Amino acid sequence: MTPLIELRGVTKTYLVGGGTLDVLKGIDLRIDAGEFVAIMGPSGSGKSTLTQILGLLDRPTSGEYKFLGLDVSALSDDEGAALRSKAIGFVFQMFNLLARTSALDNVGLPMLYTGEPGRAKRSAEVLAEVGLTDRMDHAPNQLSGGQQQRVAIARALVNKPRLIFADEPTGNLASDQAEEILGRLVDMNASGITVVMVTHEADIAAYAKRIIKIKDGRIVSDEANPHRRGGAGHAPVRAAAAATLESVPLPRELTREELIEHVRSALGAIRANKLRSALSMLGILIGVTAVIAMLAIGKGAQKSVETQLSSLGSNLIMLMPFSPRMGGGGGARAAMGSFSRLAMDDVAALRRAHPGISRVAGEVQGSVQAVYGDKNTNTNLTGAEPDYADMRNAQAYYGRFFTAQENDEMARVALLGPTVATALFGETDPVGRTINVDHIKFKVIGVLTRKGSSGFQDQDDKIIIPLKTAMKKVLGRTFLGSIAIETMGPEQTDAVIEAARVLMRKRHRLPDFKEDDFTLRNMAEIQAALTGTSKVFSLLLGIVAAISLVVGGIGIMNIMLVSVSERTREIGLRKAIGATRRAVLIQFLIEAVAMSTCGGLIGIALGMAIAFGMSYFAGWAAIVTPQSVLLAFVFSAGTGIVFGFWPARKASLLSPIEALRYE
Ligand code: ADP
Repeated sequence: MTPLIELRGVTKTYLVGGGTLDVLKGIDLRIDAGEFVAIMGPSGSGKSTLTQILGLLDRPTSGEYKFLGLDVSALSDDEGAALRSKAIGFVFQMFNLLARTSALDNVGLPMLYTGEPGRAKRSAEVLAEVGLTDRMDHAPNQLSGGQQQRVAIARALVNKPRLIFADEPTGNLASDQAEEILGRLVDMNASGITVVMVTHEADIAAYAKRIIKIKDGRIVSDEANPHRRGGAGHAPVRAAAAATLESVPLPRELTREELIEHVRSALGAIRANKLRSALSMLGILIGVTAVIAMLAIGKGAQKSVETQLSSLGSNLIMLMPFSPRMGGGGGARAAMGSFSRLAMDDVAALRRAHPGISRVAGEVQGSVQAVYGDKNTNTNLTGAEPDYADMRNAQAYYGRFFTAQENDEMARVALLGPTVATALFGETDPVGRTINVDHIKFKVIGVLTRKGSSGFQDQDDKIIIPLKTAMKKVLGRTFLGSIAIETMGPEQTDAVIEAARVLMRKRHRLPDFKEDDFTLRNMAEIQAALTGTSKVFSLLLGIVAAISLVVGGIGIMNIMLVSVSERTREIGLRKAIGATRRAVLIQFLIEAVAMSTCGGLIGIALGMAIAFGMSYFAGWAAIVTPQSVLLAFVFSAGTGIVFGFWPARKASLLSPIEALRYE
């Protein structure tokens, strides 16, 4: 029969403060399946070191170790972890149960790492075996020491191991509880499991079938124990326990169950440390809030600029009677002297200036008072030609626009903007009524389509009347306020502007050295300029987002590092019972991501609340797009991955024994 354990000339040397310490000095040992061995010796003799090597938690410095005939010194860390999880159970002096975790989940932990199905059922089964059916939902702090150790024994049994290591299993227990635990070990052995127990007390070692004494790193005695306590004699060794090891089970992929479990425990950890988690999320939370709110406001602003621009009309060039240097400022016009006059003949001349021109129309603007009955309102008057409706995107919503004939006849007909219509007529239909515009009677023939306010100006607060009526009868002007030139398409714009400039300079008899006394402004240019501005805005926003995510990420990294060192024992335990490096790495990554996405989600909610608040209370247009929410979510999760990686890696590289010895 292949021995379960075979050691030949095993030594262990620690490096301590520059020197070396030989703890094991050549151990030869053979343990067969079905044995119950107690390893005894004074403190510091190397018992724990030997058990750690036997339990594949540590490697010998030299010598040979065969586990079921397999040379285990060649195994990688993860292969060792997989072998431990399948074949070996551990019971520690300190119980090492996970806090805030039910007995049932504690027992099922090793199965998480083997990925075997039926975890809850099997856990309940072994808990029943140790007599804790009525304590399954209790957390460790709700159990007595003896009960905790029984949970730990159930955990060691859950994967049906061949071998159980118990390191001072009763060291922290009162004598009656200790007896109960030792009874369990004896029963386990009777059922075919090999037990190796470390102890320094003779009456505890008395429960074993064989007692090995160690002193100073050497085996000094190795004898059968004829006066065995507690045991019902020599139980028959089950066939299964005697079988040889098929092959080393390889590390598995992450299972769905493992993922769910990690997410659950990550959320549990956040809940358990509420204040601390909240504070570490704060950076990400504030960053995401700011980004969502600012993106919403930026998007809203862009949208209102766009509607404003589209309401101006497309392919439009505006000709205005002042030099470009003045930038449209009315006050400086007269002082500088460089203004000109635009007349109806200019309109006629421009129509023939370039084949790329489709329509040309003159306009005048003024401020008037409109009165109906006892209602009156100050509003803007536009005198326009019939083409205005199409060129400037100002159709009648109901009623009609005026005709060329009405313009020629200087008819007193008016179209009202929705704001004016509401101010004068409330909800009633104004079409067909007569209003007074600066004491002149006008018949309302239509109401304009609503354009909405565009931030600084209500585009619906206006009256449109025929151009000639406006010039001669209302405003008393002989010159036009501006001329709108529509091109056949955007590709014509430059040529048309050039042609219009040449024509106007000629008509105004400007010598070469003089600057233009008029301005030609391309609406598409304004549009491009505004788009450019919003690009700069987005860039700044991106920088703000990046900085806040880095700051938030550092917060999370910090707390994760604290968490890793706080939970060193837990990590050690998880590795001892079969967690691979990858499993630990993923667990801590999931925790970091859970924290950062929690922060991100709260930030998204807060940012949306701010955006809606802005549009509700301050009247700002704020639009939260699904893309910005998705972006914020992805980035906050990404921050968790990036900044959680280092702490998680640190956790995954901890050695199981160092982690378990950690105080
Ligand atoms: P026992 O379990 O018999 O009390 P241990 O196996 O724990 O003894 O330790 C044996 C000796 O090895 C002790 O003197 C201890 O100080 C030393 N030792 C244990 N672990 C380490 C380590 N990681 N580094 C250095 N010395 C160690």
